[in-house]
Amino acid sequence: MLTLCFISFTVQSQKKTPYILKPDRIFDGRTMHTNWIVKVNQDTIAYVGSANNYKGTLKDTIIILKGMTLIPGMIEGHGHLFLYPYNQKAWNDQVLKESQSYRVVRATTHAKKNVLAGFTSFRDLGTEGAGYADFGLKKAIDEGLIIGPRLQISSKAIVATGSYGPKDVAPEITIPLGAEEADGENLIKVVRSQIRAGADFIKVYADYRWGKNNTAAPTFSVKELKLIVNTANSSGRQVAAHASTAEGMRRAIEAGIKIIEHGDSGTPEIFNLMAAKKVALCPTLAAGYSIERYKGWISEQHKTPQRIIQKKKSFAQALKAGVTILAGGDVGVFEHGNNVLELEMMVAYGMAPKAVLQSVTAVNAQVFDMPKVGEIKIGNYADLVVVKGNPTKNISDLRNVKMVIKGGDIVLNK
Ligand SMILES: [Zn+2]
Repeated sequence: MLTLCFISFTVQSQKKTPYILKPDRIFDGRTMHTNWIVKVNQDTIAYVGSANNYKGTLKDTIIILKGMTLIPGMIEGHGHLFLYPYNQKAWNDQVLKESQSYRVVRATTHAKKNVLAGFTSFRDLGTEGAGYADFGLKKAIDEGLIIGPRLQISSKAIVATGSYGPKDVAPEITIPLGAEEADGENLIKVVRSQIRAGADFIKVYADYRWGKNNTAAPTFSVKELKLIVNTANSSGRQVAAHASTAEGMRRAIEAGIKIIEHGDSGTPEIFNLMAAKKVALCPTLAAGYSIERYKGWISEQHKTPQRIIQKKKSFAQALKAGVTILAGGDVGVFEHGNNVLELEMMVAYGMAPKAVLQSVTAVNAQVFDMPKVGEIKIGNYADLVVVKGNPTKNISDLRNVKMVIKGGDIVLNK
């Protein structure tokens, strides 16, 4: 094989010339392989498999990646491109005091950070008061105007009247909210209008902190949730439910929702039900962890907050029940580009590194119904990430990103 020391191609010339990547290891989304190569032609994976079986010509440009692992472009399973860490600016202030134009400009920088961290796809769980701005952001990325991940968007998200924030105003004053209120039969219309505005899936808050003393409590009835599910599903779209209480989760499952976000107070019974009904959990471990940090929790050495204790417990119960675990940290609550924090926490809370890698690639793609991403296979988009080391041994090696390729374009090479 040719050994070619490369690097100084422009994105344009790379795109025209097919090239081969030969790292030490290739994780294809399911399994690790050695002595494998990947051939990229235009925006597509043209070959993946044993180097020995490759029938191409020696004239092909070969990029040797010593000591490196090649993985599929990662998929951020739960994020908000229109949010940034609450310790920099409180959520209320982001929603109420920042103009939409400012938030859009910021979101473009967040999008870039995700890609450069190796996350070439991103599921956005609501613009949090920025209206339908995710629609234009997605279009600008798809057209190549700005660098960003392939987006799956939900537009405004749906909340029950009176449940969502911001709330700290006099009751007679109406203020813009972080999501769209709807109830009863009107849910059908709101789902349809969000679809019209570009939502790839519908996000609903099956519970929220509207209970007594701001505790989390279920919001919609099962009947209401079913209206959402039936309307979304008839258009071929999925519904994802924010739910952290056991009852909120139970209602979402009963209504036919297939993805539950957070799930903090799930119980063994609920997780068994999820496993039986093939409902997946996106645990967002890093969100609660980050919020506790912002509140002053300094480190593992200090008294662990109740929220963290509970989250560790319920995550272990979900694993034990055999629930499909998605990888999504609620990035935006913490810094865009620090997405790997969630994956490190999944390992710290009991998942094997290989299973975490499967979640953030093939499993996410499959459950979210994202076509042609998440696995390195012929015909899929050439969305690829090269990291130094072996993340199935040490998940933090995912922080050592050396190269990011999206649709065949080398967007990072260091
Ligand atoms: Zn979220």
